[in-house]
Amino acid sequence: MKESIHPNYQQTTIRCACGNVIETGSTKKDIRVEICSKCHPFFTGRQKLVDTGGRADRFKKRYGLNQK
Ligand SMILES: [Zn+2]
Repeated sequence: MKESIHPNYQQTTIRCACGNVIETGSTKKDIRVEICSKCHPFFTGRQKLVDTGGRADRFKKRYGLNQK
């Protein structure tokens, strides 16, 4: 592990829209995501992610997920 190849690599906090916080390392300081492994429907089997613009509906239809 040579740190010199990642001069800006640092501890970073990824904040998801669901409120989950993931600590990781990245060259970016703060990362914000809408979906993480914790709230992703494929992982949770539930649909509680952002529903703006019918995006979630299209997502569900595309992958044939059951509507609740
Ligand atoms: Zn999340």
